[in-house]
This record gives sequence, C-alpha cells and structure tokens, in this order.
Amino acid sequence: MLIIRCSKCKNKLFKYEKIGKGKLLHLWKKRIKKEYSIIKSNKNIYCECGNLIGVDEGIYIKIIKSSITYSGEIIK
Ligand SMILES: [Zn+2]
Repeated sequence: MLIIRCSKCKNKLFKYEKIGKGKLLHLWKKRIKKEYSIIKSNKNIYCECGNLIGVDEGIYIKIIKSSITYSGEIIK
C-alpha cells in the first residue's frame, strides 16, 4: 500500500494499492483504498492547502507528479 501525500503541506491524500512497476501517473479509482482530506472542484482535485493534485478522468485520476510524494510498498 502506498500513502500519497501532498508535496507542499505533507498532508495525507490517498491510500493506494499500486501494482507493478512503472511510475505513478494515474490513480485508478478501484485501487484507491482511502481518501483523506481532498477537495474536489469540477474535475480538479486539490489538497486542503490548495495545491492542485490532479484531474478526475472518470476511471482514474491523472496526477500531477510534482504535487505529490509517496511512500510504502508496491506490489510486484
Ligand atoms: Zn497540501
């Protein structure tokens, strides 16, 4: 499980099940296990601090790489 945090304020954003190698570019909604304090406005997803995290594309969230950091285990 990965804990995804805001790169600006370090707040937790998502608990996410990342499977396989590769960069974290999309968050598949079915693999999001928990949402923390995020703000949704139209299709944009923000951290509580106002940092734009990504864009809701329906089945996944396209994340802005520079807006997040993450830690935890990737399932291979
Ligand atoms: Zn933040």
